[in-house]
Amino acid sequence: MVRIRNLHKQFGSHTVLDGVDLDLAEGSVTAILGPSGSGKSTLLRCINHLERPDRGYVEVGGEIIGFRPDGNRLRERSPREIAAQRARIGMVFQHFNLFAHRTAAENIVEGPLAQGVPVRTARARASELLARVGLAGRDDAYPSQLSGGQQQRVAIARALAMDPALILFDEPTSALDPELVGEVLSVIKDLAATGITLAIVTHEIGFAREVADQVVFLEDGHIIESGDPATVLQHTQSERARAFLAAVL
Ligand code: ATP
Ligand code: MG
Repeated sequence: MVRIRNLHKQFGSHTVLDGVDLDLAEGSVTAILGPSGSGKSTLLRCINHLERPDRGYVEVGGEIIGFRPDGNRLRERSPREIAAQRARIGMVFQHFNLFAHRTAAENIVEGPLAQGVPVRTARARASELLARVGLAGRDDAYPSQLSGGQQQRVAIARALAMDPALILFDEPTSALDPELVGEVLSVIKDLAATGITLAIVTHEIGFAREVADQVVFLEDGHIIESGDPATVLQHTQSERARAFLAAVL
């Protein structure tokens, strides 16, 4: 589903991704762990071309994101083509990023309306999606009337409204009060069972152990450990990853 090869990203002289290779199998869940500044968000942002890789590439469903092969080089796609590619990749952020002056349903229908879906169809689908994330009947609630956990579930419904084959979550529960984390993780766990490919940057090790098919540990722009959760979390090879896990557990 996703093939990442030799991905490099620098900001000025600071190398943030230094040759990342990673595959996400179709329908799988990948948990991305690593200390602050290791490049986790940059990696997700390169997957949907919110950041432009300096070298290497990301392929989703057989298509290189953001670039078009041209002979043996890659040429950047037009903004319109990039927008079309991005529309098929959902993204859920730490701080929900809902429009404050729009209701839950209005937040959800925005993408579909921009794609030409009729209002009534988009609204009906938004109601279904709200029910699916445990928010049936909350269509007209404004973000300020919802808890953090509810807002994050609206954000997940908004991502689902575009029928993505892939959803990227960047620390989706880090901004939540502890008692609200479970309801969001439970929605993500339900999604994991539906065949959508998921990549989740998280510090929720228990969730990673239970739900992920693959865990990768990023350090200084490199993947230093990867594999199934039992291997990476219980038989951690590197000292750095062990120290990180000891600190978050
Ligand atoms: P955190 O756990 O704190 O979210 P992270 O692993 O997600 O960290 P990134 O956000 O990917 O880390 O950032 C990696 C490094 O790149 C950091 O040193 C950060 O300051 C730097 N960086 C990220 N985005 C930019 C940018 N647009 N311009 C300059 N530097 C950036
Ligand atoms: Mg980050």
